[in-house]
Amino acid sequence: MFEHPSFDAHERIVFFNDAASGLKAVIAVHSTALGPAGGGCRLWSYPDPADAVTDVLRLSRGMSYKNAMAGLPMGGGKAVILGPVPDDRRDEVFAAFGRAVETLGGAYMTAEDVGVSPSDLQTAARHTAYISGIETLDGVGGNPSPFTAKGVCLGLESAARFAFDRSDIAGLRIAVQGLGGVGMNLARLLYDRGATLVVADLSEARVEEARDRFAAEAAPVDTVLLSDVDVVAPCALGAVITPDVARRITARVVAGGANNQLSDAAAGQILFDRGITYAPDYVINAGGIIIVCAEYFRNADRATIDAMIDAIGPRTAQVLQAARRSGEPSGVTADRMARDILAAAPGRG
Ligand code: NAD
Repeated sequence: MFEHPSFDAHERIVFFNDAASGLKAVIAVHSTALGPAGGGCRLWSYPDPADAVTDVLRLSRGMSYKNAMAGLPMGGGKAVILGPVPDDRRDEVFAAFGRAVETLGGAYMTAEDVGVSPSDLQTAARHTAYISGIETLDGVGGNPSPFTAKGVCLGLESAARFAFDRSDIAGLRIAVQGLGGVGMNLARLLYDRGATLVVADLSEARVEEARDRFAAEAAPVDTVLLSDVDVVAPCALGAVITPDVARRITARVVAGGANNQLSDAAAGQILFDRGITYAPDYVINAGGIIIVCAEYFRNADRATIDAMIDAIGPRTAQVLQAARRSGEPSGVTADRMARDILAAAPGRG
């Protein structure tokens, strides 16, 4: 484990196996330097359990960087549940997951991610206090996806301003890959701002919905990122920008909600070499964790949260400008900025 390419000095990696429910899960705590490690729980059917470990490690480190860049009092962690989970065992599995989170005594706080619904978390919440994204009080809390989408939209607008030197996104063609909680909300925001949408999802019903509501064009799932558009917004799973895709993208901007969009550093370098602006994913998709964190600590009102999410726009511009000055890919610049924040944290070590 310590030699794993994505290990990156994780503080803790815990494997859970609950024979009674069938739960198999991994919780990774990358850093608690800034506070308890916060990050969602993903339920996914991985072809190989080793893929689940790689995924959780990459996601967990991403949460450390995301939370640091968003100025949150939270470290980085993530959980994955290995699917598939049969419908008739779902409640038992999420109850067992809640008990698993509880054993970490607050070092890790969980919330929604791909494949996990607010009602799954309600089940888990009966067994752990270390959970968020479930309860709205005075407009703070609940499903984070719309807040994530808002931040992504602001980050995308900043990246488009940077790349095209224009004040708004009206009239731009934007491809959205994945129309789930984040992607569908993002599509609505982009449509409201006058963008023309090209969309793809594995679910035909979601594509139909986007067609009806936003006059979106449908694209094939395997080539949506290569569409003839100005901006691509990956909002499904990670590692979709491989070196091969990076070489073939015709859009001038990549800005979406998915975590870990770049498969590796080479993909980021190719985007940079081709003059394609990449808005680092964890910089622009922090809206959800901002509200999750506020619900968990009950330390911010709605106006404060909105201001924190609004700050994603200028922060994206700051990262892109710093990268231009340094002559390096924006992901490299963002990682360095995040690591500097972590290194200066009082709770470090
Ligand atoms: P979701 O499960 O609600 O939606 C994902 C959507 O992507 C589904 O509609 C699914 O059918 C579609 N999809 C899956 N594979 C696809 C493919 N190959 N091509 C096209 N569509 C595909 O998930 P979500 O909450 O919207 O999260 C989407 C991404 O955003 C994930 O990477 C997640 O980690 C990231 N993210 C989510 C949040 C949040 O608040 N939900 C916050 C930060 C980051």
